Amino acid sequence: MTPVADALNNQDQDDLRLSIYSKKAMDVVSALQADKPGLHDFMALVSPAAEPFIESMAQRAASLTRRHFGHTMQMFVPLYLSNLCANECTYCGFTMSNRIKRKVLSSDEIEAEALAIRQMGFNSVLLVTGEHETKVGLEYLIAAVRLLKPYFSHLMLEVQPMSESDYAQLIRAGVDGVLVYQETYHRRTYADYHLRGSKQDFDWRLQTGDRLGRNGMAKIGVGALLGLSDWRVDSTMTALHARILQQTYWRSRYSVAFPRLRPCAGSVHEQQQMLSDKQLVQLICAHRIMHPQVELSLSTRESPHFRDHVSQLGITSMSAASQTQPGGYASANGALEQFSTEDNRPASQVAAALLDKGIEPVWHDWLHGFSG
Ligand code: SF4
Repeated sequence: MTPVADALNNQDQDDLRLSIYSKKAMDVVSALQADKPGLHDFMALVSPAAEPFIESMAQRAASLTRRHFGHTMQMFVPLYLSNLCANECTYCGFTMSNRIKRKVLSSDEIEAEALAIRQMGFNSVLLVTGEHETKVGLEYLIAAVRLLKPYFSHLMLEVQPMSESDYAQLIRAGVDGVLVYQETYHRRTYADYHLRGSKQDFDWRLQTGDRLGRNGMAKIGVGALLGLSDWRVDSTMTALHARILQQTYWRSRYSVAFPRLRPCAGSVHEQQQMLSDKQLVQLICAHRIMHPQVELSLSTRESPHFRDHVSQLGITSMSAASQTQPGGYASANGALEQFSTEDNRPASQVAAALLDKGIEPVWHDWLHGFSG
């Protein structure tokens, strides 16, 4: 049984869309005043009707963030272990048919990356790969986690969705969190972007939260790739996903991310569904108002100016100085990156900008220490 995926599958997304676009100013005001905002409040907050209320949303979001997280920002960095991929996704530089130099880091190369990352000050790392079950599967990941555990206090994974027994083994090896983004919750649109490989299996991906929750994964991350489909509908599905995961598997912590599509080698899609900076602020604030205690995470896809601004509103976890090519911290090796980043400041500079705004960068995962 996969109760969370079943609940998501039962949503009529055409109805959601109609409901979002018919919200009025009074619905937004009522959402802003709600003690415990529900899904209809979230839909009001991401609707076009909420655009004149973004300042009030930002104030509410900022105050909730400070109340629940203090003046802190959790810092992490992605470590790309491999850019091999057995899928064809039309928006990604690692897509199988792209003729780029492919690389899987060896044990020595992983350790070199770990040392370079420690030097930058990070203690929390997100291990990322393309999706390649045979060459970068369970065994490889377990070995990498065991190798990296002595260097870092917190290890998360962003890799292909895996089975329950695989997750159980990864938890035993020392994985603290898994992020699996649905890309788009719209089944037909999903099929348009995923042309080959196991990622075509929409349901296997959607059921990942259930497999992680049942195994008691400490942290579970959800999100949509913003720009693939109508961001308001996809984000409403993301909010619902986070909410019912919390209700069903309440021992886990949750995080929501906001990746906007970025240019990459070989991308074949016109980006017609892209949301503006202002709309992304609206979305981040809507999530904070709906989930006061959920970690909201932002990557270096966004510009320094944007990241500095939203660090005060709702974002509580941030990567910095990211390299999206395997081996990129210890040495530039010419392998192609997954997508281009916008905020290329060194980690120390990002930390200084946060301190300037009265926010303390946190390099350890203290919460995990308390709960683990
Ligand atoms: S999005 Fe993921 S699965 Fe798709 S091509 Fe890129 S790395 Fe592979």
